[in-house]
Amino acid sequence: METQSKIACHDCDCLIMLPEMQINQTLVCPSCSSKQFTTYNRPLDYSISYGLSSLILLVMANSFPFLSFDVQGQIRTITLIQASNDLFIQDFVFLAVLVYIFVLLLPMAYLSLLLILLIPIKFGLKSFFAVSIGRLIGYFRPWIMAEVFIVGVLIALIKVIDLADIIVGFSFWAYIGFAILFTLTANISNRHQLWYWIDRAKR
Ligand SMILES: [Zn+2]
Repeated sequence: METQSKIACHDCDCLIMLPEMQINQTLVCPSCSSKQFTTYNRPLDYSISYGLSSLILLVMANSFPFLSFDVQGQIRTITLIQASNDLFIQDFVFLAVLVYIFVLLLPMAYLSLLLILLIPIKFGLKSFFAVSIGRLIGYFRPWIMAEVFIVGVLIALIKVIDLADIIVGFSFWAYIGFAILFTLTANISNRHQLWYWIDRAKR
């Protein structure tokens, strides 16, 4: 990978001279020791394939039952969207909006924009609005809470496991698959890598 000469540490603003980096090496800030980025093998190919798979899993996670509860023979099945709708109906409007935005809409927007940006670059085409898309992706990333949502669901399940028999639906596994692939995609197409591609696409 070609490197720019310097970057600013995102935690302490220290200017870091970029060394020649091998695959799977991680750059650490010499001043505050915070991790800057890791270089990956064929990052463009892996970002596109993981990003696309992650987006497909997210769509699947919204298309099938997420969880079913069996309380004394009465089975109630919910989908992910239904879970947000139920919060809305029970007057937890703010919480419902947060779930819609951070668990469903933002990841979908992030992955779609990333693919719109990277697929033309992969085929050597000019990527329109590359800088604007790069900025949007940078704004979205810190707000996507797929991993937090998974942990929240697991904790909630432990609490209700004594009250009802829980049947884990296909969507549940699809969302876990999405969260893992999303994290991989976001790590590979990290800020440094993304702006390297955008810079190359402009030329
Ligand atoms: Zn630093």
